[in-house]
Amino acid sequence: MWSLGSGTCALYTEDPEAAKAARQAKLRPMAAYYRLKGKGAFAWQFAGPEEKVKEVLRKAKKQVKSEQRECAGCGEFFAPRSKRQKFCSKCRQEVKREATRKRVARWRRERGVDQIGPIAQF
Ligand SMILES: [Zn+2]
Repeated sequence: MWSLGSGTCALYTEDPEAAKAARQAKLRPMAAYYRLKGKGAFAWQFAGPEEKVKEVLRKAKKQVKSEQRECAGCGEFFAPRSKRQKFCSKCRQEVKREATRKRVARWRRERGVDQIGPIAQF
């Protein structure tokens, strides 16, 4: 968002929800950005009174928040790629590592392995 002077602001967004909100708020469409290979526009630019532009941005931000989820590990917000996803990508790695560690520990316990000798190099 930047000022165009005399209380009018331009809004550039790559978020379709924000673009929708901008249209609903009756901001004036200035441009849509297309990529050669893309389907439809990927970014939009609008102009309108500063207050309205700010309002649209506020709404869009809220929308994004609601689509995000709190990580069960660290509490950070992240954008889940599936409904069952509980951890952010950082914690997911940690969780995976922990699961591997437990699996290996169990495998060793079941077989009574206390130590692994040197592994031959070929
Ligand atoms: Zn996390």
